[in-house]
Amino acid sequence: MNANKNIGCNVSECKYHAGNENYCSLQHINIVHHNHPAKCKEETDCGSFEPRNR
Ligand code: SF4
Repeated sequence: MNANKNIGCNVSECKYHAGNENYCSLQHINIVHHNHPAKCKEETDCGSFEPRNR
């Protein structure tokens, strides 16, 4: 996977994680909130996350 150095990410459980480097491999991600309105960063998430196939 090619690391997109514009999107840092340490979620190595995600199938789009770049592997050895802490970056995302996608060209674009969607960030979402799961509490409306979000009041802290813990209330936001990467909406593009997909679990890695094991
Ligand atoms: S899709 Fe989201 S969670 Fe997955 S590697 Fe990219 S930024 Fe990280």
